[in-house]
Amino acid sequence: IMAEPEDDLDQMITRPPVVTIMGHVDHGKTSLLDAIREANVTAGEAGGITQHIGAYQIEHNGKKITFVDTPGHAAFTAMRARGAQITDIAILVVAADDGVMPQTVEAINHAKAANVPIIVAINKMDKPAANPDKVKQELTQHELVVEDWGGDVIAVPVSAKARIGLENLLEMILLVAEVHELKANPDRPARGTVVEAELDKGRGPVATVLVQNGTLHIGDTIVVGHVMGRVRAMIDDKGRRVKKALPCTPVEILGLSDVPEAGDILVAVEDEKLARDVAEKRQQRKKEEALKSNNKISLDDLFKHIQEGQIKELPIIVKADVQGSIEALGQALEKLSNDEVKVNMIHSGVGAINETDVMLASASNAIVIGFNVRPDNNARKIAETENIDINLYRVIYEVIDDVKKAMSGLLDPEFKEVIIGHVEVRKTFKASKIGTIAGGYITEGKITRDAGIRVIRDGIVVHEGKLDSLKRFKDDAKEVAQGYECGITLERYNDVQEGDIIEAYIVETIKRELK
Ligand code: GDP
Repeated sequence: IMAEPEDDLDQMITRPPVVTIMGHVDHGKTSLLDAIREANVTAGEAGGITQHIGAYQIEHNGKKITFVDTPGHAAFTAMRARGAQITDIAILVVAADDGVMPQTVEAINHAKAANVPIIVAINKMDKPAANPDKVKQELTQHELVVEDWGGDVIAVPVSAKARIGLENLLEMILLVAEVHELKANPDRPARGTVVEAELDKGRGPVATVLVQNGTLHIGDTIVVGHVMGRVRAMIDDKGRRVKKALPCTPVEILGLSDVPEAGDILVAVEDEKLARDVAEKRQQRKKEEALKSNNKISLDDLFKHIQEGQIKELPIIVKADVQGSIEALGQALEKLSNDEVKVNMIHSGVGAINETDVMLASASNAIVIGFNVRPDNNARKIAETENIDINLYRVIYEVIDDVKKAMSGLLDPEFKEVIIGHVEVRKTFKASKIGTIAGGYITEGKITRDAGIRVIRDGIVVHEGKLDSLKRFKDDAKEVAQGYECGITLERYNDVQEGDIIEAYIVETIKRELK
C-alpha cells in the first residue's frame, strides 16, 4: 500500500552527504560537532546557533554537508535496527593521546556492519601527549589501514579545541561523498527518518526529521511510523521557519497526531485516508508485537530466519573474559567456515555484553556469544525487547558445537525422493466407518505404513497423500513386500478405484554436516 514511485534518473540531483560522528567517550565527538558548526556559522545566522535540533547542515566551498547530532554508535545502530539507514559517512573520532579504546572498536564494527565508509579524525592534536602514529598503528589491528601506510582509509589530524584541521576534514568528507555519487530526487513526495522526537508542552508533538529523498512541504500529509499528521510548520536547524525541506535537510516538523520514535520512517502521501489507515494498522501491529515480545525468539528461530533469508553467513558477536579466549574462539570458528557458509565475527571485545552489542546483533541478525561473561542489565532489557537470544558459555568446545549446529542449519539440506514400490488396486470395498478399502497386490518393491503415496490412474496422479492403514489379512502391518496382497485405506481419500496404481515413496533428507 505504501509503494513508492520509481525515481526518474533524469530528476536525480547530487545531494549532500549525511555524516555521523562516532568514537570512544570523551574523545571529542561533541566538541568536534560543535566546532564544525560554530566555524561555519555565517554572519546572518549567528543568532540561530542557539537553536539545537538533532541534526545540522553546513556549507563548505559552496557544498553542503549534513551532520546528524546523535553521537554514539548505539543510537546509530538503534536506528539501523529499525530499518533506517541515514548515515553516508562515519567520522571515527580517536583522541591522539588515548588511542583506540573499546568503544572505538565498537564504533568501527558498527560502521563496518552498516557498510558505511569511515573517515578517521585523530583529535586532540593540540595535546603534548598526542601520538597519531600510535593511533594509526592501533587502527591497523582493526583492518583500518590509513593512506600514508598504504591503505585506503583517510585519516585527518584535528583539534576540536584549537580548531585545527577542521577544513581539511570537511574537504575529505566532500571527497568521499563525491566518490559515492550520492543522489536524490527532489521532485517526488518526501521520505525521511526521524532523528529525535518529543512532546513539547506548547507546540505538541515535535519531530526532527532528516528528509532523505523528495521534498517535504507545508501541508503535506505524512505517515511517520505509527503516527500520522499534516505538516503544519517546519523549522530548520537555524531556527528559521521554512516552507519546504529538500533532500538531506534536517527540519523540525509540527502537526503530528502523536510522538513518533527516533528511527521511524516518514513518508508523504497524497491520500489522507490511506495515511490514516496505514498509521492505524501500524499502531495495531505495534500493540500485537508488544504482547508477543514475551515469547522470545530462540537460537533455532534465528538460524531459520537467516536460512530463509538465504544468508550463507553466520554473523556473530563475541564477548569474553580475556582477549586470549576471543582469539582462541576466533581461530576455532574460522576453521568451521567453508565454501558455502562463513562465520563472520562482526564484533568482539573483552567485558560484559552491553546494550550496543545487542543492538548490533539486532541490526545485523547476529548471534551474541558470551564466554565467561554476562550481559549487563541494560543489555538484558534490550535483548528482551529486541528478541535477541544471548548465548552464554563456559567452555570453548560448547561454543564450537553450537555454532556448528547453526551452520549445519545454514547448509541447504538435500531432499531426495525414493520410490519404494507399486501396488495394483484389484478390488475396493466400502466400509461404513472406515471409508474405502483398497485390496491390492504389490507388483514391485514394497509398501510401508509411513510411506508417502500417490494414486495413479491411467498414468495421471489423481491423489497424493498418506496411508491411513496398512493390513496384511486382518493384522496391521508395518510393511508388505512384493508378491503379497494387502488392504489399504488412505487418509482423506475415498475415491480409490479398481485398476489404480498406488505408488509408495519416501523422502530422504540428507542433512549435511560440517566436516
Ligand atoms: P565526547 O564524549 O566524545 O562527546 O567528548 P567531548 O566532546 O565531550 O570531549 C571530552 C573532553 O575532551 C572535553 O573536556 C573536551 O573539552 C576535551 N576535548 C575535546 N576535543 C579536544 C581537543 O581537540 N583538544 C583537547 N585538548 N581537548 C579536547
